[in-house]
This record gives sequence, C-alpha cells and structure tokens, in this order.
Amino acid sequence: MPRFEVGMLRYMEHEEMRVLQAIETGMKNHELVPRSLISSLAGLRHGGAYKILSTLVRYKLVGYDNLKSEGYRLTFLGYDYLALKALTSRDSIAGVGNKIGVGKESDIYIVCDADENQMALKIHRLGRTSFRAIKSKRDYHRNRTYASWITLSRLSAAKEFAYMKVLYDRGFPVPKPVDFNRHCVVMGLVDGFPLCNVKVVDKPGKLFHRLMKILVKFAECGLIHGDYNEFNLMVSEQGDVTVIDFPQMVSTEHENAEYYFDRDVQCIRDFFRKRFDFEAEAWPSFADVHRAERLDELVNASGFDAQDQFLLHSNLDAFMKYAAAKPSAGEESIAKGAVSDDDGNADSQAEEEDSGDEADGYDEDEQAEGADEDEVE
Ligand code: ADP
Ligand code: MG
Repeated sequence: MPRFEVGMLRYMEHEEMRVLQAIETGMKNHELVPRSLISSLAGLRHGGAYKILSTLVRYKLVGYDNLKSEGYRLTFLGYDYLALKALTSRDSIAGVGNKIGVGKESDIYIVCDADENQMALKIHRLGRTSFRAIKSKRDYHRNRTYASWITLSRLSAAKEFAYMKVLYDRGFPVPKPVDFNRHCVVMGLVDGFPLCNVKVVDKPGKLFHRLMKILVKFAECGLIHGDYNEFNLMVSEQGDVTVIDFPQMVSTEHENAEYYFDRDVQCIRDFFRKRFDFEAEAWPSFADVHRAERLDELVNASGFDAQDQFLLHSNLDAFMKYAAAKPSAGEESIAKGAVSDDDGNADSQAEEEDSGDEADGYDEDEQAEGADEDEVE
C-alpha cells in the first residue's frame, strides 16, 4: 500500500478500518491490544480479526511484536489512515499529493478537495525524534509504563487549529484553517516561500518592520508566537507575509512571556543581519506593548480539558520538564524520552536497526493512552 494514497482508502475494507479503530480504542487502556479484545471491539466473531490483522501488519498500519506476541498496536501510519479516512469521509479532503515540507515535528502534504482546490495537510509527529532515542534505550524501554506519542501529536494538532482559527478570524495573515482530525490539520496552501529560502529583498527594512508589526499585534491580542523565525514566515512574490506553525504559541500572561517575545524579535534581527546585511535601528520591546485584547482566552475556551489547558499555557519544552518532574500516568515516558533526547544521547545506529518493523522508518513503538473518540465514519 503506497503511502497516503487516499484512493487506497477506498480499497480498504470496511472491516479493516473497524479493526484499526478497535486497536485505537483498545490502546486507551492497553499498551498492546489483545486479539480477543480487538475482535470484540470491532464486533467480529472470535478469530475473525486474525486475517485482517495480518493484512494490517503486512502494510505496517499495525505493529505486532513476534517475541512478545501479546497483542497489537497502532503505528503512526495506521493513525494517519484513521485521520485521513475521517477527513475524506466528511469531504474535507479528496486526495493527497506530494510532500511539500518537513518541519521539526511534522510532515506537510499538498491535498485537494473534491473541486480540486489545493490545500496543505500538516501531520503532527511529536516524539518522532525523542522516540528514536527511547527506542535505543533498552533499559528505559523495559521500565516504561506507557507513553503517548498519539496524545501529544493529537493535542499539538488541536492546539494549532485552535490558534489558527482565532488568528484567522481576527484577520491575521495566517493560513485559512479548514479542518482537523486526530494529529492532522488541513489548512489553506500558502502562496510563497519560507523566508529562509529568500535570498534578496528590495527593501529589507520594510519587511523587517512588517514582521515586527505582526509580532506586536499578536502581543496586543495576548499572544506570542514563540517560534517566530525564517522557517515559519512565508513570503510571496508580491512581498505578502503569512505566519505559520502555532503549536508552541503562548499567552502574554505566561510567566516567561517577555523572554519568548524578546527571543522572537531577536531571531528576526539576527536573520536580517546575516541574510540581508540589515541592522535594525529600532525594534519592539515587550514592556511597550499595550495588551488590548485577549485572544489567548478565546483559545483556552475552545474545549480543552485541564491537561490540555496546561499544554496550551506552556510550550512543549516546559510541558516535558513538568511531566518529567511530576510524572502523571500517560505522559511519563514520553517526557523522560524527550528529556533524554535533549541530552543528545540518541543512538542512530540502533535506530536504523530497529526501524525495520516500523511504519516508515521512525519509531512510534508506544502506547496511545489518549486515542480520541472521533468516529472515523
Ligand atoms: P513544524 O511545526 O514541524 O516546524 P511547519 O508548520 O513550520 O512545521 O511547516 C513546515 C514547512 O512546511 C514550512 O517551513 C513550510 O515550508 C511548509 N508549510 C507549512 N504549512 C504550509 C502551508 N499552509 N502552505 C504551504 N507550505 C506550508
Ligand atoms: Mg516550523
């Protein structure tokens, strides 16, 4: 089964989708979901899931460890299919095209709707780096209770969509939010290139001030981008700017708000100096920003529970440190994994060796404690 052929979704048997969903549900309480439970969750007669499961394992939508033989788990690819199936079922997308970007923790594809309008699909993949490190740490692996790459990827997508919607509705230059499901966000396709690919501009000073103006406007609305740099700013031929990438946005009420704001400003100043030989004479400071609106509160009100709220109020780094210091059931091992990854201990050798049975070469050999409730159909 080729990757992301939405056409292929049509050939997927209804029962195969039901089995995938059953595993997603089972993973709320099981690291590996026993076959009997899958059969009953999928409403199949005992043993009925066997053939379907071997097909799903063959196509790497589902993982099965022959040594443990305790049960099955969803792979990232399997999770991708569930999200794509949901998005196609409600006609948000009709086809998936080329990969157009790879972010820190995401893959971006061109997608289209039934009228052939092109859009962008961002698939959040939190833990992609950290889990490689975890995978190589056998001791750690044995001791872990369970982790939640699915939970974090899902929350990251939900958070991104919530911010994008609030910003778009308020008239900020951000992609149009179209839909999201699980770890996938569908949005408008931005016309332009990331600023990092722009070699020359007519008037760097003008562009610099435009970027600062957006940053100040964000802050006046109670928000700080938190990753405002040349990779997350798209510039069109006409010089129009679009800001992307929102999962790490923080409120101006955040205890480190000033630090994040100044860091955003500094990133742009550094880039303009290096790339365009432009030295800014003036730039905004957090203290001078007059906060008139509270879009951050609007985002918070958009239906996240307490744990999610925490994610919304902090960036992922802070969340990782918090969870490492104060492990709560589901987030414990991912937090440790991320922190150990920060130590730079990733073992790429082991990664390569281990990747054979994975969806597409990266590991998500983890428990999804928070598979969501969305129905695929
Ligand atoms: P990450 O959070 O992983 O950094 P981004 O949202 O920054 O992911 O996206 C990664 C890259 O994909 C961007 O640098 C950009 O080149 C491309 N991209 C992202 N969103 C869009 C979009 N809506 N339209 C066009 N290209 C996009
Ligand atoms: Mg980015």
